[in-house]
Amino acid sequence: MVKEFQMWIGGRWAAAQSGQTREVRDPGNGELLAKVPEGDGRDAAAAIQAARAAFDAGPWRKTTAQDRGKLLFRLADKIRGAAKMLAELEVRNCGKPLAEAEFDVADAANCFEFYGGLASKIHGHTMSVPANSMSFVLREPIGVCGQIIPWNYPLLMAAWKLAPALAAGNTCVLKPSELTPLTALELARLMAELDLPPGVVNVITGPGVGAGEELARSALVDKVAFTGGTATGRKIISGAAGNIKKTSLELGGKNPNIVFADADFAAAVDGALFAAFANQGEVCSAGSRLLVEESIHKRLVEAMLAKIPNVKLGHGLKAGVKMGPLISAAHREKVESYIRLGQEEGARLVCGGKRPKGAEFDKGFFVEPTIFDGVKPSMRIAREEIFGPVLAVIPFADEAEAIRLANDTEYGLAAAVWTKDITRGLRVVRELRAGITWINTYHPTYNEMPWGGYKQSGWGRELGLYGIEEYLETKQVNINLDEAPTCQLI
Ligand code: NAD
Repeated sequence: MVKEFQMWIGGRWAAAQSGQTREVRDPGNGELLAKVPEGDGRDAAAAIQAARAAFDAGPWRKTTAQDRGKLLFRLADKIRGAAKMLAELEVRNCGKPLAEAEFDVADAANCFEFYGGLASKIHGHTMSVPANSMSFVLREPIGVCGQIIPWNYPLLMAAWKLAPALAAGNTCVLKPSELTPLTALELARLMAELDLPPGVVNVITGPGVGAGEELARSALVDKVAFTGGTATGRKIISGAAGNIKKTSLELGGKNPNIVFADADFAAAVDGALFAAFANQGEVCSAGSRLLVEESIHKRLVEAMLAKIPNVKLGHGLKAGVKMGPLISAAHREKVESYIRLGQEEGARLVCGGKRPKGAEFDKGFFVEPTIFDGVKPSMRIAREEIFGPVLAVIPFADEAEAIRLANDTEYGLAAAVWTKDITRGLRVVRELRAGITWINTYHPTYNEMPWGGYKQSGWGRELGLYGIEEYLETKQVNINLDEAPTCQLI
């Protein structure tokens, strides 16, 4: 049966003010999954008002850190209790293989727990020089946070946004992608069972133009946290300029995965495939540029090609599937246009590039894992984020060239180095202009460690101790310890 959802605004379930709904379909088979409200700026404004009232006049800001922490622990337990439903819904809504969705759900629960624990450890510094005065620092919530997330990790991105914001005592309006709103709405259902004061968390649905824009633009929002494409990030910045709201951005990447000739060869081959094709390549940190030392270039490409038939395509709920469908017909068009472009630019298509054949693929947005060899660093397929299963292989002569090629990008999200020489690994990592780096592995992400990009990959950091900083104001309190006043004009 097709499920009908409503938005969660001010502690109530609400339809869109326009009365419009949107059909949400499974990108793997076209099945109609649900109808959700097609919210617009008016719904966003109502949710912002609710969050504003909950912050300014509600009891939330005055709850103790311990109580906020316990609430996040309870939410983590509820997510674990609903893990099977959430993972399967995530697969149906965004196409990823079930094992990846199960990992995301577990990680989302852990994220709420991590920040639940951190809530009571938020403290400022104290200074007691000069002798006649003392200063200490209060860390306070920023206020109303507008949080806008993409379609590739719907539940996990919701956790990354809500957990630190709530731990710090903010109120939130979360807008999932219009393509993947279902697990965020189920999360709202779990939060509704927690007896949070009305308006502390609001979940609205609808497109970026309208609902999302209002979160970036509204003068009643104190902070906007955005994850999505770099072009949209620029619009968020200009929307946020009106009231100079605090802004954090997690944007795109064109991430280099560097393999030196002395690397563990088998591990590097598996690592390169995982880096490029996990989650269908729809990962901001995907290793979409494979930089390979010339002496092993040919052998490495051949070894990858030998393993490509094991990258099983199919609906994410089917056993053994390693790559699901892309998110939408429009996105598949975009990915395919880059595959055509790569061929026009003169890169050598060594595998994939097509839609898989067979009845099971007919109604989904599948694209085969695709590898281009002989890619020149100047080609657009080497420079632009494709956000799909398309890998560009680029050979390099020596360490200096590897570093130069790796950094030759407007992005700076992630990068990896494969070598048995740890001194070289560290030396190269230190030169890389990227916020997340790996040595002899690719993709591990920890709630305890910061996530975010250099250059046009974003502003600020999520996760870890750094992530909570994005949701805190800093107030200095200075106390005069002298009996006599210390500041007299005359
Ligand atoms: P997108 O920028 O199209 O959309 C992201 C969100 O922004 C959606 O909720 C959308 O509705 C909203 N939006 C769109 N236009 C808006 C506007 N004008 N004002 C306000 N909100 C607006 O991105 P996407 O296609 O959903 O996701 C893919 C992108 O996300 C990729 O570029 C990827 O690299 C990036 N991403 C980055 C990270 C990271 O941690 N750095 C993580 C995941 C995805």
